[in-house]
Amino acid sequence: MDKQMDFVLRTIEERGVKFVRLWFTDVIGTLKSLAIAPAEVEGAFTEGIGFDGSVIEGLTRSHESDLLAHPDPSTFQILPWRGQIDPTAAMFCDITTPDGQPAVADPRNVLKRTLAKAAEAGFSYYTHPEIEFYLLKSRTFGTEGPEPVDRAGYFDNVPGGTAHDFRRSSVRMLEDLGISVEYSHHEGGPGQNEIDLRYADALAMADNIMTFRTVVKEVAIEQGVHATFMPKPFAEHPGSGMHTHMSLFEGDVNAFYEEGAEYQLSRVGRQFIAGLLTHAREISAVTNQFVNSYKRLWGGDEAPSYITWGHNNRSALVRVPRYKPGKSGSARIEHRGIDSAANPYLAYALMLAAGLKGIEEEYELPAEAEENVWALSDAERRALGYQALPQTLDEAVAAMEDSELVAETLGEQVFSYVLLNKRREFEQYRSQITPFELRTQLDII
Ligand code: GLU
Ligand code: MG
Ligand code: MG
Repeated sequence: MDKQMDFVLRTIEERGVKFVRLWFTDVIGTLKSLAIAPAEVEGAFTEGIGFDGSVIEGLTRSHESDLLAHPDPSTFQILPWRGQIDPTAAMFCDITTPDGQPAVADPRNVLKRTLAKAAEAGFSYYTHPEIEFYLLKSRTFGTEGPEPVDRAGYFDNVPGGTAHDFRRSSVRMLEDLGISVEYSHHEGGPGQNEIDLRYADALAMADNIMTFRTVVKEVAIEQGVHATFMPKPFAEHPGSGMHTHMSLFEGDVNAFYEEGAEYQLSRVGRQFIAGLLTHAREISAVTNQFVNSYKRLWGGDEAPSYITWGHNNRSALVRVPRYKPGKSGSARIEHRGIDSAANPYLAYALMLAAGLKGIEEEYELPAEAEENVWALSDAERRALGYQALPQTLDEAVAAMEDSELVAETLGEQVFSYVLLNKRREFEQYRSQITPFELRTQLDII
């Protein structure tokens, strides 16, 4: 039993914790929870807690359904939501087979494996997401569609508004859970908000994003509203992205920074961006995993549609933000494609793998896009060599199918499960008769 485990056991006792939730994530990014009594925690640390993995989408093949959850003591947190009568704590888990092998389909393990690969090359990977979401009056809606809680817009201060209280409570709760928040503000759409989490290594951040989604949902319930991370709930308003800033460090040194280079961006930084661009289409079915994700990418309102990079160019897929003089640690790049409904473990694993490939293979970075990429004509974009992101989930799945990089990074089981699940989703979508068809054709044809 190591020191962190001792600390957890002591805290459980001192704080009178009654339930400990074991958290893990399925392949699609849904948080799963199994509650155990405090007396079971020691055994969970030493041996793991058995469960039937076949009930969880994508986690196992049915003939090897016995799995073990091993809580990671460094992720221990006491859950601060009101309405929790008995003190309840949670820990994220690693999943193994009964003989102690990491479960091949555990998304946390996919990210860990990719981080280990980065570590072999001398790098650690840090991320900082800007998480956008909508607050709606209710989960249910009538013919008018969902109703946002306010009519405000970008950075608006809404006196007496729901969003204000909402952000205050969420930020306080996140801080109680040890998750630092950098900024929070009203976003462009009515009822749309953004909360930015402070830099952390990608594994801690993926855990934090899962906790974040739960906190936001819990606070919404407390306040009698509904929070959604759906990428594009309204055709006429901006979608919800999860722009992710990232950097690689070699020890204490930011590997993306180079004094005197263009935008102070090092060769490694340029190669990393080139990797993200080269593999953008292949990783899209994971960074933007739903049918609805493509309505955001192709719906305007500052979501990227073309595979370009730029310095402070909001139409680009990858942006190199303005560098803070004197702070080499802050040099970073921003991926603007990923959305708020992505599985953070798998998406960060693939973004890292794409960037590392760029470094390994010394990819050349194409010229930056200085213009507004959306405003160009197709012919102009072709002449400049700007490729489009997939326009539909179907197209994204086709691009992923042929990708060695994605197959290798996700592992065979997760790779084939994602393809299967996404093909099924697109098939169901394609078989719908939509209100659009009825409206435009029913009484005309
Ligand atoms: N909501 C926009 C998107 O879908 C981003 C707006 C912003 O620049 O923060 O990506
Ligand atoms: Mg934003
Ligand atoms: Mg941003």
